[in-house]
Amino acid sequence: SQSIFAALLTAACVGAFSTTPAPSTSALLSSTSSSSTQLCEAKDHEHAASPVYDAISTNTAFSSYQTRHAESISNPSAFWAKEAHKRLSFFTPPPKSHPTIHGSLEKGDVKFFPGAKLNVCYNAIDRHALARNGKGGNDVAMIWEGDEPTDTKSFTYNEMLEKVSQIANALKNQGVKKGDVVTIYMPMIPELPMTMLACARIGAVHSVVFAGFSADALGARIHASQSQFVVTADIGLRGTKKIPLKDIVNDSLTKFDNENLVDKVMVYERFYDDSNEDEETEDSEAAPYDMKPKDIRMNPLVNKMKPYCVPEVMDAEDELFILYTSGSTGLPKGLVHTTGGYALYAAFTTQTTFNLEKGDIFACVADCGWITGHTYVVYGALLNGGTTFVFESTPMYPDAGRYWDMIQRHKINVFYTAPTAIRSLMRYGDSIPKKYDLSSLKVLGSVGEPINPEAWRWYYENIGNSKCTVVDTYWQTETGGHIVTNIPGVTPMKPGSCTLPMYGIDTVVLDAQTGEVVEGNDVEGVLAIRQPWPGMARTCLGDHKRYMATYLTQYPGYYFTGDTVYRDSDGFIFVTGRCDDVLNVSGHRIGTAEVESALVGHPLVAQAAVVGKPHPIKGQSISAFVMLVEGAEESEDLIKEMKMEVRSGVGPFASPDQIVVSPSLPMTRSGKIMRRVLRKIVAGEADSLGDVSTLADPSIVDVLIEKAAP
Ligand code: ATP
Ligand code: MG
Repeated sequence: SQSIFAALLTAACVGAFSTTPAPSTSALLSSTSSSSTQLCEAKDHEHAASPVYDAISTNTAFSSYQTRHAESISNPSAFWAKEAHKRLSFFTPPPKSHPTIHGSLEKGDVKFFPGAKLNVCYNAIDRHALARNGKGGNDVAMIWEGDEPTDTKSFTYNEMLEKVSQIANALKNQGVKKGDVVTIYMPMIPELPMTMLACARIGAVHSVVFAGFSADALGARIHASQSQFVVTADIGLRGTKKIPLKDIVNDSLTKFDNENLVDKVMVYERFYDDSNEDEETEDSEAAPYDMKPKDIRMNPLVNKMKPYCVPEVMDAEDELFILYTSGSTGLPKGLVHTTGGYALYAAFTTQTTFNLEKGDIFACVADCGWITGHTYVVYGALLNGGTTFVFESTPMYPDAGRYWDMIQRHKINVFYTAPTAIRSLMRYGDSIPKKYDLSSLKVLGSVGEPINPEAWRWYYENIGNSKCTVVDTYWQTETGGHIVTNIPGVTPMKPGSCTLPMYGIDTVVLDAQTGEVVEGNDVEGVLAIRQPWPGMARTCLGDHKRYMATYLTQYPGYYFTGDTVYRDSDGFIFVTGRCDDVLNVSGHRIGTAEVESALVGHPLVAQAAVVGKPHPIKGQSISAFVMLVEGAEESEDLIKEMKMEVRSGVGPFASPDQIVVSPSLPMTRSGKIMRRVLRKIVAGEADSLGDVSTLADPSIVDVLIEKAAP
């Protein structure tokens, strides 16, 4: 039987893996079956892990999920009102008699508890410092580890309150006012999250630009947000490499009219020595960079500020920040998130998805330049009074054991990274993580792309010792927080599937052509959401029309994610790719994720990207770009074997006509494959690639044109 209950009654623990997967996800499910027999025996561990798709019929937590989820979407106003009262402190709480949710997806004017007043920084810091008669102030709020593993610092809630207040006072001192946009272009030093929080404290809107972007990309973002203030650092460090951030900022001011627009450039110094404070001055002589008239030396200025700043009273719908998407599918979109709804959703999802408990050390190793860094490095853990871990360096410095070493040294409990990092670390073998004590871990997270089951299993077995829950969190810059994910100890895991909607998220699968809701299971379509939720972005910066057209008017009444999904026979969601990337071969619609997952199923393939290429008979044929593991050689046999992986994993119709072995793939700086570039290359349209400013290594484009252009 395909029924989840019938299948699972006969299946102890992992047995459910043997249920016949539907053809179109066979590639996602067919990787080597787990060798572990303890998947249900996590009880010796302090935190019980989720069963890997175990007997749902006897899992009371799963039925509690179903009940709570049903309640949350049948009366969302009541659900979110209750959560808001539970999780946030308000200066003026949302009135109990008013509806929580105003506006609609149709009209594109959604608001959550407008009129309520709060401050996100106060919620993230002050109230925890004040908790338990002030004793909460000694809890550790942030642990930071720099480029060198020996360079670490930690900050209690009291210390955070002082530092963030001082930065807030420094910003005010330089003329930043409520509502002003502050562009933050900084390395992952403690002052980055602190500056974001300081902006929130004084009601300024932060716009963080990832400190790997070029002067052009930075300049365009400064201009688009009409930001008069830039906060940066003299240099950034990544694996001993020095990135001249201040020079890039100087350059960005030569773009557009930025020289006239920008009033102040506030510069932190990466190696500033507080103990020399008496000798340090704010004058230019002492600065380790060439100071311009607009530049302000931040460190000495901050240090002389008062250690308390009154938090600004903000409306729940006041803007909190602007952030750009990764630009995987087109020109990056500048999304606007607001105060109350975002804070609620960040707090709620962090606690729910990661089962965050008192004293947990939460390590999300994303950069603050992306939404994952906003919600899960800065806001989520702190809003819950937890300890957030901030990481400056790379997973490869000084060697491929860096993450595991950090987990051991800091006794990290929750670790959150991206599939691309897992796939690259896998290439170095199991022996590296084996060298470290990873027993502090309880939850492992994945985000950013579909995780192929092979990488999932490696993560689960080698990092989680088959005891931790792996949460596959699906969400977007636009959604503010997780919208589809499993929940530790509550919902089952299924490798390759982000599983089931978060509480309060009313997901539907729509027929891409007709826009009709596709009911039932074992179905495909586009993923959409039927009701507003607190964390959703309210608009695209300065372009509400684009917001409406991209998300809300394509399928009226729904928020359109732009991603295609398969809902399997058990009702679990698999993201199969981007709508724009869907392959259509002889009338078969094929998701990129299935074919790519089959390709990386070959032991010599490290990463893969597939795109459709115009074909006179089939409509499209498949072109695959693959990166081999270290030391592997390209050969005709290998190409044949890769095709076989796809034939057996997905079906003969999906076999790629072209396989290009390439030294690397076009990845965005946030680690996502930019398939639109590959599509243009194979179609012979490399002269119109579109916006490629978010590519991590633009030079790869020429290599690929050389190899793959027709
Ligand atoms: P742009 O919108 O500019 O094209 P982007 O969509 O890559 O860029 P992000 O908001 O950073 O920008 O990424 C969100 C997208 O990442 C999702 O729409 C989805 O395609 C993908 N994604 C994120 N998490 C997951 C996941 N757990 N499983 C599958 N896909 C995921
Ligand atoms: Mg997107």
